[in-house]
Amino acid sequence: MSFPDTSDSASDAAPICSAKGCREPAVWVLAWNNPKLHTPERRKTWLACDEHREHLSSFLDMRGFLKDVVELTEWERRSATDH
Ligand SMILES: [Zn+2]
Repeated sequence: MSFPDTSDSASDAAPICSAKGCREPAVWVLAWNNPKLHTPERRKTWLACDEHREHLSSFLDMRGFLKDVVELTEWERRSATDH
């Protein structure tokens, strides 16, 4: 097999959870929009690890900002094919 071992090479900025003080790698993307600040099609994104997905998404959901929660791999696939 010729796959490189990437376990210790987080050099290309592995995305990190957006929760305060958390250094875990992000697994989820929370897409949100504040209608007072953003046009309806605009998407802000937060990144979340497994542990903080619930916390961050409920924070956004309470304010009515939360639009979408998708896995990071899925999000990247979507943006890669978005043209
Ligand atoms: Zn986290």
